[in-house]
Formats: sequence, structure tokens, C-alpha cells
Amino acid sequence: MTFPATRMRRLRRTDALRALVRETTLDPGDLIYPLFVCPGKGVRSPIGSMPGVFNLSVDEVVREAEESAKMRIAGLLLFGLPAAKDEQGTGAWEANGIVQQALRAIKQSGAAQKLVLIADVCLCEYTSHGHCGVVVKSAGGFEVDNDPTLDLLARTAVSQAQAGADVVAPSDMMDGRVAAIRKALDGAGFANTPILSYASKFASAFYGPFREAADSAPQFGDRRTYQMDGANLREALREIELDLEEGADMILMKPAMPYLDVVHAARRRFGVPMGAYQVSGEYSMLQAAFEKGWLDRDRAILESLVGIRRAGADFIVTYFAKEAAKLL
Ligand SMILES: [Zn+2]
Repeated sequence: MTFPATRMRRLRRTDALRALVRETTLDPGDLIYPLFVCPGKGVRSPIGSMPGVFNLSVDEVVREAEESAKMRIAGLLLFGLPAAKDEQGTGAWEANGIVQQALRAIKQSGAAQKLVLIADVCLCEYTSHGHCGVVVKSAGGFEVDNDPTLDLLARTAVSQAQAGADVVAPSDMMDGRVAAIRKALDGAGFANTPILSYASKFASAFYGPFREAADSAPQFGDRRTYQMDGANLREALREIELDLEEGADMILMKPAMPYLDVVHAARRRFGVPMGAYQVSGEYSMLQAAFEKGWLDRDRAILESLVGIRRAGADFIVTYFAKEAAKLL
């Protein structure tokens, strides 16, 4: 039946009608809030390229956790800025590493029971060279050596589980890391700790501001030998399939906005819980437009998040988590 019998505008007439026929929901419980933990006390140091985002000392992280729990945000994703870096990235797996300290402190707070505490598993924030794995010299200059890195990632995941991480989230893009982490967790008595794998992670210009926030820019070269080429959808699905075979319980895809087709294709192909990461560049781009008065802040935040949900993400990692939760 077509016009005039069919009039699509009938169901758009009122707020209540629009709410009744809304296809996609967005709830604070769909959101994960990323935090950057740094040494010190009472530290809240702003990130220049990410207005509203801070490097936070452990006590401040606990405050953020309590606030997030009150707002019914689903969980936190923790990144660490260690006091010192070295070639191997030992700060990543130290029992008293910065993320481990934060996990223990949050676990002792009332927020812990209401939040899923996710620890990012990678080495780039802890290595002096800023790469996500072990760097060796090669004919072409240098190489990020896959297999020796697996053991370090596995140690990192185990130490995070010991400190209280509810979920570990490897973001390094080494081959075989999920299996290595699963084996190490099981061996250390953490058979019940799930792995959220950044299975589909593209080498993206949109990570720029994060590197300031996490102080993790590579000192030489780039990450294109381990993160994926932005042109490849089939490869992304293959990465996801392999990570699931290795034992990933959930998958994370990043960035979100320039890769919504990947989120959609993954949603159609796989039945596991999946999230997308609205990365730093997506956030900063919107913030810049808000500062200029070019976009309506509240509406643009929610629209950017609903788009990611509509593409098929069950949950979204976003720096807008608190602001969005207030609006919902
Ligand atoms: Zn990394």
C-alpha cells in the first residue's frame, strides 16, 4: 500500500509515538568508561587534545568509579601510565603496577559490585619505545616480535586478574595472544575470568589524542605491521573468528564511527557479545565542534552513540559515558 493510504509521518507525530516505535535503545548500562591511571595523589591532570578527560591518580580513579556506579554505567576500562618505562614494559605486569593498584583500590570501594572492571592488556603504555610488543633489530631496521610478546601479555593479564580485574582486554593485535592469555589465566586459577578481545583493531589516525592521554606514541615506526589496514572488512571478520576459536568470550572493535560496517557485519556473523570503542579522535572531533558552537552537544553525543548501537554493538566504550548517562 502506498500514499495516501500509507503515511510514514503518522508515527512521528508525538514524543510518545516516536518512543513507542523506536528500534534502538541506549542505556547507561551499555556504556564503558575508559580511565587513565597515573602515579601520585589527588592528581587530575587534563589531556590537552581531549577536553574533559584526565590522567587520574588512584584515589581520583576511585572517585570516578563511585560516580560511574551511581550513574549505572556498566563498567570501566583501565589504562595505566607507569612512573617509569623500559624496553620490555615490565610496569604492565608488576604486582604493584599502576593499573593493579587502581584495581585493588576500586575493589575495596562500594563501586566494585556495580561495575565491570576491565583491564586493558598491552605493553605500549609501559615500553620505552611505545610499541605493543617486544622490539628486535631486523634487516629492515626493527620488528615487533610476535611470539616472545605473548608470554609478557599473558603475565600482564594474570597480574591484572590477581589484582581484581573482572575482565581482561588484550589490545595489542599480536597473533595467538588470546590462546596464550587463556592458558595462563587457567593455569593461575582464573578459569572464570573472561577475555574481551580487541579482535578487530585498525591502524587508525583517530587514535591520535589517546597517545597523548596514555603517553604511548611509538618512538619510531608505526603500528601498521600489527594493527589492521583500514580497507579490510573480510580480514576483520577473520581476526574475530580466530580470536573466538582461541577462546575470546567477547570482542571489541575499534574505531567505531569510520568502521560501522565492520560492526554490522560482525553482528550478523557472530552470536557473541560485542562492543565498539568510540575512540579518542571521534571524541575530540566532536569536542572541537562543540567548542566552536558548530554542533548541538547533547544531541550529537547521543546520536553518535545510538549509531554505534544501531550498527550492532551491544556495548560502547566511550569517553562520553558520564555525560551520556546524565542525558539518558
Ligand atoms: Zn598497545
